[in-house]
Amino acid sequence: MHGIKGNPAYWLLSQNFPVSMDNRNANGSIHLSSGNPADGEAGRLLLDAEELYDNLNEQLMAMDNPNSAKNTVLIEEAKILWAKKLKSRNTTLKDAVTDAIFHYTMIQWSMEDGERAQNVSVLAYLYYRYLEGGDAFVPQGLSVLLELLQKDIPEDAVILEAEVTKINWDSLEVDGNASGKVDVEYITSDGSKIEIDADHVIVTVSIGVLQKHHRSMFVPNLSKRQSKAVEKIGFGIVNRIFLHYEEKFWNEQDFPYRFLWDSNIEKDFKEDAHWFREISEVEIYKGSILLIWANAYVSREVFDLPDKEIGRRITLLLRRFMGNDSIPFPSDLLLTRWHKNDHFLGSYSYFALGQTPATQRIASSPLRVNGIPKVLFSGEATHVGRYSTVDGAYRSGRREARRIINVAAKESATNRAD
Ligand SMILES: Cc1cc2nc3c(=O)[nH]c(=O)nc-3n(C[C@H](O)[C@H](O)[C@H](O)COP(=O)(O)OP(=O)(O)OC[C@H]3O[C@@H](n4cnc5c(N)ncnc54)[C@H](O)[C@@H]3O)c2cc1C
Repeated sequence: MHGIKGNPAYWLLSQNFPVSMDNRNANGSIHLSSGNPADGEAGRLLLDAEELYDNLNEQLMAMDNPNSAKNTVLIEEAKILWAKKLKSRNTTLKDAVTDAIFHYTMIQWSMEDGERAQNVSVLAYLYYRYLEGGDAFVPQGLSVLLELLQKDIPEDAVILEAEVTKINWDSLEVDGNASGKVDVEYITSDGSKIEIDADHVIVTVSIGVLQKHHRSMFVPNLSKRQSKAVEKIGFGIVNRIFLHYEEKFWNEQDFPYRFLWDSNIEKDFKEDAHWFREISEVEIYKGSILLIWANAYVSREVFDLPDKEIGRRITLLLRRFMGNDSIPFPSDLLLTRWHKNDHFLGSYSYFALGQTPATQRIASSPLRVNGIPKVLFSGEATHVGRYSTVDGAYRSGRREARRIINVAAKESATNRAD
């Protein structure tokens, strides 16, 4: 979990489960694509480069008119900061190495943002709210949060393995019936089509699912303004590649094992070098399982290949950087493919170029009938300060639930007055 101070998801979890701070070895080792370890200066510069991420936020805060950054992508700002940093460091490292460090940093950023810095708006760093306290780690996995939240919900109130396909939200406009109910149509896993009606509906599908289906899902359609806002929000991809080995072939203290791609690599590392270059490190997941994080670019480029082929190519990569041609192929390989899963279509949202907090607000404005919110929208992408996070998703759900409670409270006050 990203940040703990003022994080309601962390608070809830820590009251009920052991939660530790993320104490993975931050340093590990750094290697050049020639297979040789990078020297100490490269390591120090790499730490400097990683700091740029925090600086970016501070620099934007210091701007007189942050809106002037509206049309800038993250990589442009990063290049300026990097050039300044290099100048102040007076480094003796060759350009190929300093470029490789910058490239490494950009890959790390693409993992945080879910998209490459070429596509992320620099405004993200003005509006995203950092929470202090470091990253917390939940050994049981974050699904325990769901278990906690659904504890008080009666089991028969939850319908699983059912896909909502249609939401008829304005009964008056749809069938001339002024019931005020929202008709929800869903399809069960055996293909049956079922309709239920509701006083209010909170839509929590990912922004990727909403972007793909809003035109067929809502009757009547979302307004043009709202559709445009929904479509403007960035939705990123981050995946994980787990490599399982019969036995370890590594020294634990070398991990995370970081890759610095020097710019001459293509000529002697021909096989699809372009996507290899977007992989920046391998870490130990646990025991004899290694983990590689794949950014949007890697996911789009190679995740259509069969697992075995991906395993083979990654082995070439490891052999190269670890300088060891006898590294075995993994005995098993597991990839998450969030962007290929019809119920997610990506991982988490990012601030796309041209997006502002207003985009998120418009995209998630409730659909009202006679002023009453009938269909409401939550999910991480709708939360201005904490988009892309679990606590953002949780907060946004509470926000919409409160909206419904307010309607109910008003109705009951009116009834009492009558
Ligand atoms: C690899 C990875 C690592 C991450 N690490 C962190 C982290 O360390 N900290 C952090 O805070 N966040 C992290 N996140 C982000 C976090 O997981 C998401 O922000 C959060 O899960 C979003 O929750 P959500 O409820 O908005 O959407 P989702 O989790 O996408 O939930 C949407 C739900 O809608 C369902 N659905 C979709 N379509 C339909 C339909 N038609 N009918 C019915 N149901 C439908 C889906 O099945 C799903 O259950 C990570 C994400 C990934 C992928």
